[in-house]
Amino acid sequence: MHQQRQQWASPRRAAWLVTMGIALAGLMPAVVSAQAAPLPPVSERARAVHAAGMVFDGHNDLPWRLRTEGDSALQKFDLSKRLSSGQTDIPRLREGGVKAQFWSVYIPSDHPEPAITVMEQIDLVKRLVARYPSALEMASSADDVERIVKEGKIASLIGIEGGVAIENRLSLLRTFYALGARYMTLTHNTTLDWADAAVDAPKHDGLSGFGERVVLEMNRLGMLVDISHVSPGTMADVLRVSRAPVIASHSSSYANCPSPRNVPDDMLVALKKNGGVVMANFYSGFIVPEAGKRMRQKVEQLKTEIPDREERSKALARWLELEGGKLARGTYRDVVDHIDHLVKVAGVDHVGLGSDFDGISMSPVGLEDVSCYPRLTEEMLRRGYRESDIHKIMGLNALRALREAGKVAEKLQASTPPDVDDVKPEPRGY
Ligand SMILES: [Zn+2]
Repeated sequence: MHQQRQQWASPRRAAWLVTMGIALAGLMPAVVSAQAAPLPPVSERARAVHAAGMVFDGHNDLPWRLRTEGDSALQKFDLSKRLSSGQTDIPRLREGGVKAQFWSVYIPSDHPEPAITVMEQIDLVKRLVARYPSALEMASSADDVERIVKEGKIASLIGIEGGVAIENRLSLLRTFYALGARYMTLTHNTTLDWADAAVDAPKHDGLSGFGERVVLEMNRLGMLVDISHVSPGTMADVLRVSRAPVIASHSSSYANCPSPRNVPDDMLVALKKNGGVVMANFYSGFIVPEAGKRMRQKVEQLKTEIPDREERSKALARWLELEGGKLARGTYRDVVDHIDHLVKVAGVDHVGLGSDFDGISMSPVGLEDVSCYPRLTEEMLRRGYRESDIHKIMGLNALRALREAGKVAEKLQASTPPDVDDVKPEPRGY
């Protein structure tokens, strides 16, 4: 793990990633402090309880990692073997009890070719799954997930991270659904033409009129609406407008850690009413209060000092290079503190896991990679969670939301036609 972090934490790479916009998810440089004493192994009982359930994780950035490592051709890393780099490979997914995974097809908000790049990333996920057919299989529904899990494989789903991907067109949204996307995070770190982001200046006080149409069309398709990365105003608008359960695919509790990337209590209450699921992120900067506070202060300060987005992004990168390593990692217990609070406010039926592995370079002690989920089960058992509740949090709640979104879509499709963009007539040509 240590080697891996060093590899991922080179300042040049970190600066580039920050510029590309993924940093607040948040790849950060030089973050590893001295190795703590090894944790005791997870107990047999916890392993047995964990194995009886399924981890259905909401967000893993392996596809973007492969692209940024120059391995879009899938030649460099043999994921069937335990790798000494990165946070994800098949042996570690197995060890972690991961049975279903939303693979993120991420797109930086300022990318010159958002839609095409997301298509390339979807293609990458499909090739990845085809490359390891005994371990992975594509899923596009809750029934698919159940069948694939029964067959002993890892159900692989696609989640788009960044609504910039649809280039303001509902036709592209439908096309992405047809290509397999089953959720879309409405924004990344930049406010779009139709939705405000959590760490950018608001333009619409939430969603614009077109933004509401995007949400309703996602409902009609059966694509989950993801409120991670959006502003509280956007969260409120989504939860008011959406007819299907909403997810926060990789966000934790604002009350525990005041990062703008986390979900505040009033939105957790609204999410409960909506039937949605908030899926806890493992990134130390969103989990450990001091780390979150310092990040928030810096982002706010830069927002007022530097109006230009690109310059602001560079300044944040510089700050992370200098200060990122001083932020506290926290431990797996901090993550369970978040889960405790999310359960208290949203209810045990509305909490899940969205690790953000391979999109983060700093995770709590005990949650270094995808093999580590059983430690959360052990800690929840220690805190008195019922086994059935642990299984819900680990994956069944996410599965329920996906199933419910599919049912809502069926109903809507019976009564509502597709919402069509206003396309200007083209000259007929030859
Ligand atoms: Zn993210």
